[in-house]
Amino acid sequence: MGVVMSVFALIDDKHVPLYRVMWIAATPHYCGAEDCTREGFYEVRLEQGESVWANRDERDQAILALEAWQGGLPPEEEDWRN
Ligand SMILES: [Zn+2]
Repeated sequence: MGVVMSVFALIDDKHVPLYRVMWIAATPHYCGAEDCTREGFYEVRLEQGESVWANRDERDQAILALEAWQGGLPPEEEDWRN
């Protein structure tokens, strides 16, 4: 049995479906606003203009999950060549 991959990443207390992720910021947010609550967080852009905000751990986990989900790991299917 292999590792069971989830199609969800946990970001900001939300289970975000990986297939909804458009991109993940490479650098933490900084806009200079004094009352900004997102500073130091990484923006995870979703379809339809939504965003969620990940801390560093969540961002790293989301990237790993995306890589695995998008084919970094071979699918666990029967070998069709036999
Ligand atoms: Zn900001």
